[in-house]
Amino acid sequence: SWFRSADGGVVYVLLELRQETDYVQHHVQKVLAILAAMARFAAALREAGHRVVHRTLDDPLPGADLPAMLRALAASLGASTIEYQEPDEYRLHAQLSDAFGPGAGSEHFLYPRDGVARVFSGKKQRLMETFYRQARVEHRVLLDDAGKPLGGQWNFDADNRERMPLAHRAPAALEFAHDVRPIADRLERHGVLTIGRADPGVLPWPLDRREQLQLLAYFCDALLPHFGRYQDHLGPADWAYYHSRLSFGLNTKMLHPLEVIRAVEQTHRDDPVRVTLAQAEGFIRQILGWREFMRGIYWERMPEYGTLNALDHHAPLPDWYWTGETKMACLHHTIGQSLDRAYAHHIQRLMITGNFALLAGVHPDAVDAWYLGIYIDAFEWVELPNTRGMSQYADGGTVGTKPYVSSGQYIRKQGHYCGDCAYRVAEKTGPRACPFNALYWHFHARHRARLERNPRIGMVYRTWDKMAPDQRSALLAQGDWLLDNVNTL
Ligand code: FAD
Ligand code: SF4
Repeated sequence: SWFRSADGGVVYVLLELRQETDYVQHHVQKVLAILAAMARFAAALREAGHRVVHRTLDDPLPGADLPAMLRALAASLGASTIEYQEPDEYRLHAQLSDAFGPGAGSEHFLYPRDGVARVFSGKKQRLMETFYRQARVEHRVLLDDAGKPLGGQWNFDADNRERMPLAHRAPAALEFAHDVRPIADRLERHGVLTIGRADPGVLPWPLDRREQLQLLAYFCDALLPHFGRYQDHLGPADWAYYHSRLSFGLNTKMLHPLEVIRAVEQTHRDDPVRVTLAQAEGFIRQILGWREFMRGIYWERMPEYGTLNALDHHAPLPDWYWTGETKMACLHHTIGQSLDRAYAHHIQRLMITGNFALLAGVHPDAVDAWYLGIYIDAFEWVELPNTRGMSQYADGGTVGTKPYVSSGQYIRKQGHYCGDCAYRVAEKTGPRACPFNALYWHFHARHRARLERNPRIGMVYRTWDKMAPDQRSALLAQGDWLLDNVNTL
């Protein structure tokens, strides 16, 4: 609504800021795409008749920090007030609210910052599924005329998450080819340090609303029919499979979550045979459920949430997270793809890179910095609860009811990485054994005091206790060796 009508008394300010390019080392595609999208947005606002100040790194506003810059600009324009919409990251919230008081509520989510806290007021446990069902009712999503869930149930996960046949190929991802070389040159001139790889002559990401809507239409048409079915597939044949890649457009506010949800619901209603309810529901749950839920947890628990380390993990991130140079095929492919494309899908993030970091006892700060930098869609409000919470269990179980760890068997069952690996997924000990196997048992053994009372994990300890003592010792010795030599794997 801020941009609905042109008002000569309002000046919109868009700034390229070193505080934003440098608070973590970002993937080069992420910086390029955000700065290019900002430039397009500034041009679109001008075209619509708005007054705009758009300053690049070449042409910064005077002032030691963002509040000082805005005050100096306001003084030079003769502006009487500075208004802002609530930013998504706590860091910026603290900076702007200290300087200018509270911001206006964000219009880019379905719930306000305290929406989740209000749903669970007075309750200890926060289950995403509870929140999601309420959100379905409140926003009338996938309901029948009587207000009941379509198909008679809320969740169709049991029908989804199949292993993709080896020969099956998903349609190619829809990619654009933007020439953003002037921005790349600017980043270089100013010594902005980035990670990952890009060809700035053909940046593939959609950079404005029109292109994001094209990506949404492509998703509904070509990918949604198999989204849920192959959502958890892991393998080297492709990189996005049936995933939407809409997170960048959603998180930078080029798309509104409700328009994405409505488009998906309508696609199902128009042709329920081609796009079954299981596919549509599985996708909608990610946005209406997980995305809003994670944001609510972030705002309820910040700033303390960013310091949690419930498992007391302190190891550094293995060096090969920055290069992909490991003999483990699953990690080699997932990290290599992340460096090449600033993208990995959810199960790659959770069950490959996240799983290994958790098994290896990496400090959540190091894991957070990696995730916050490397992905095109990474902004702290969504990265932190996913990484520190869901993936690393550093919040002790607020987001996930148990740590997401697995042995190599899960990765084998879920896809096709293991066939090409230097390690043997069926072996638990010895030089060629899949490292996930011994690390899995080592993790549970060293966290027994904390985890064994969790009813979802009890079975693991019963299996461990039934193993022969020499097998347990061999697994622990192998785990010790792997942790000591993690950079060589
Ligand atoms: P799709 O699979 O097509 O899903 C559709 C949409 O659902 C996504 O675009 C996203 O908006 C939403 N969504 C799905 N899962 C989640 C979730 N767990 N939390 C919030 N939204 C979700 N997502 C981010 O947007 N930014 C991050 O920085 C981020 N970091 C993550 C870190 C870890 C360790 C893990 C396990 C997950 C993270 N996610 C993050 C969630 C999820 O992996 C990405 O949203 C998703 O992979 C983006 O790709 P997509 O748009 O193709 O998703
Ligand atoms: Fe990954 Fe182990 Fe499979 Fe290799 S064998 S791809 S390390 S799970």
